[in-house]
Amino acid sequence: MPHGLAYHRPASLGEACALLAELGEEALPLAGGTDVLVDLRRGAGQARHVVSLRDLEELRGVRLEEDGLRIGALTTPAELAASEVLQGARPELIEVVQVFAGPQIRNRATVGGNLCTATSCADFPPLLIALGARVRLVGPDGARDLALEDFFVDARKTALGPGEVLVEISVPARIPGEGARYEAFGLRAGSFITVAGVAAVLRLAGEVCLGARVVLGAVGPTPLLVREVEVLLLDRAPDDDALREAAAAATAAALPISDVRGSAEHRRDVVRALATRALVTARERARS
Ligand SMILES: Cc1cc2nc3c(=O)[nH]c(=O)nc-3n(C[C@H](O)[C@H](O)[C@H](O)COP(=O)(O)OP(=O)(O)OC[C@H]3O[C@@H](n4cnc5c(N)ncnc54)[C@H](O)[C@@H]3O)c2cc1C
Repeated sequence: MPHGLAYHRPASLGEACALLAELGEEALPLAGGTDVLVDLRRGAGQARHVVSLRDLEELRGVRLEEDGLRIGALTTPAELAASEVLQGARPELIEVVQVFAGPQIRNRATVGGNLCTATSCADFPPLLIALGARVRLVGPDGARDLALEDFFVDARKTALGPGEVLVEISVPARIPGEGARYEAFGLRAGSFITVAGVAAVLRLAGEVCLGARVVLGAVGPTPLLVREVEVLLLDRAPDDDALREAAAAATAAALPISDVRGSAEHRRDVVRALATRALVTARERARS
């Protein structure tokens, strides 16, 4: 723990929310610490207290309920990959784990932390948004649910209010005729920071598209849900021409920057390639 920080370990969710509300902007929730401790050691931010969530059992585990999956915010990528429930219900989410860091971070990081840190290159948000995930936030004034796309307000800024904790993520169960895929591009094999990522979900009835969601990661301040793709594909046959047009719409919606990992122009080319691949795989899966 960086020097000068007070460490708190509440035993219940109510206690954690009350403590966070009381300490205000000087306090940060602590999950796996793989983002927050790096920032604090760099001297970023004004936190003087960290409030560990580790004893909050209600934030753990993956379960299947009638209306879909519930993923506790403290679930690690390694636990997701090992979950038989997830393997059966949403195997596409396990593919995200396969491009997520290396074994040490997969064992320590949490899915909730990946959403709350709200960095543009985070790997879980694009596919979760494309699948229609919702998040449950609990704070001193009770609980509220919101669509994951509305949770991201700006770069590193979420809709979490004072004293609020992300408790769980709910993901609708797979329906027949639906296919999904996340594609990410990095600069090396093994652990990489995503230069661009694209998630695609297609819903087909025979050869007619009933729904399409494409979400871009790492090419904007927040994950970008490209609503034009749904308009473009709705009620159409998802043939190669239609998917190429959809990939072009996704590319046009990207808001990339140039940095050490690539120029904006390069990122646009990457988005087009990833969107095409993700849509083609989603189509194959929807057909099968
Ligand atoms: C070497 C390395 C490799 C990495 N590789 C990847 C990668 O491939 N892909 C990727 O997406 N990320 C990667 N990351 C980033 C990081 O591991 C993830 O973002 C991780 O999921 C964050 O989770 P955490 O539990 O460690 O969050 P923490 O560091 O504990 O918290 C992150 C932020 O979220 C807040 N927070 C956490 N949980 C909650 C909650 N339940 N409610 C409210 N606020 C909360 C904290 O206050 C903090 O602001 C990597 C990091 C490192 C160090």
